[in-house]
Amino acid sequence: MKMENMAKGDEVSNQQIIFRDFVTGFPKESDMILSSSKIRLEVLEGSKAILVKNLYLSCDPYLRSRMNRIPPGYIPSFTPGSPLQGFGVSKIIDSGHPEFKEGELVWGVTGWEEYSLLTLIDGDKLSTLFKIKYTDVPLSFYTGLLGMAGFSAYAGFHEMCAPKKGDYVYVSAASGGVGQLVGQFAKLMGCYVVGSAGSNEKVNLLKNKFGYDEAFNYKEEYDLNEALKRYFPEGIDIYFENVGGKMLDAVLPNMRDHGRIVVCGMISQYNLEKPEGVHNLFSILVKRVRMEGFMVFEHYHLYPQFLELTHQYIKEGKIFYVEDTVEGLEKGPEALIGLFTGSNIGKQVVVVAHE
Ligand code: NAP
Repeated sequence: MKMENMAKGDEVSNQQIIFRDFVTGFPKESDMILSSSKIRLEVLEGSKAILVKNLYLSCDPYLRSRMNRIPPGYIPSFTPGSPLQGFGVSKIIDSGHPEFKEGELVWGVTGWEEYSLLTLIDGDKLSTLFKIKYTDVPLSFYTGLLGMAGFSAYAGFHEMCAPKKGDYVYVSAASGGVGQLVGQFAKLMGCYVVGSAGSNEKVNLLKNKFGYDEAFNYKEEYDLNEALKRYFPEGIDIYFENVGGKMLDAVLPNMRDHGRIVVCGMISQYNLEKPEGVHNLFSILVKRVRMEGFMVFEHYHLYPQFLELTHQYIKEGKIFYVEDTVEGLEKGPEALIGLFTGSNIGKQVVVVAHE
């Protein structure tokens, strides 16, 4: 039955990606199961829930942390036997919530399924739903460029790094959902920007599409410390950290005095049972480096200013954006685990349904 033939109150089948059980080590497709249940397309009388049809889902590295038996601390683990949850773009089918109406488009955390019944919890930023203001850009952009990943790039770079024109900026995992935008925000500020990525195709994108001054394939570098010295003979002012591990160790001695490291993520550690050690921490003292982590949801109050600026940049053609799209909910697990081998080129998106 197609959506246009459906009416509010109909009971329909709801395809879902179910989280099978807690994961140790590298996630596998079989850790997630495609399943089907039934859902009635209406919100119960008196409930404040919001029923949505999911259109696009975002594959994000942090979802791996939710697969651990021990939760990462800022967000609960997934419940075995329940659908995965993650950021997505959805259309409201029915709503008992006074601030959301049928037909509105939203982005925020939803289920990995065709339809989700969402409950917003007051004061819980992780359950925030953002109304989509601009529809003159592809809606999928709200999984990345105008959603969580793009806003992480903005908040992490502009709020955390205190960037100045002329700063030497290094970005790891530079071609991904976050990294491609960090580099472009840094170039728009007049910084010198170098990125690293895991294939020559990605390096080419960094230099020729995203405007990075230089880029290198970290998998082809025998000695990361030497590579960084080659690209930053005078040292690094700002390191936007996405990968951790050996990369962080190589960056530390290459920081300039009073450099800033913003820790956005450490994807190289997410599948390890025992995290790697970092040896060069003494450089933080010697170079008086400030190193600080951040969580994007703590900066949500800045989303409106980010949206206006970035939407304007898109309209002016100042931002170039690459998505890697798979069609169909059933392709979600493969796309998600592909983040950990670098199979995504750009922001990884799963199309559940076109509006
Ligand atoms: P992404 O770059 O689109 O995808 C992940 C990329 O990481 C892969 O394509 C791969 O690219 C690289 N990678 C995978 N395993 C690696 C390893 N062992 N060593 C080095 N690189 C590896 O992901 P994203 O959404 O932009 O996220 C980037 C980082 O930001 C992640 O660490 C994520 O957890 C973090 N993040 C944090 C926040 C926050 O609020 N703090 C918000 C959003 C994202 P290559 O081919 O280049 O290796």
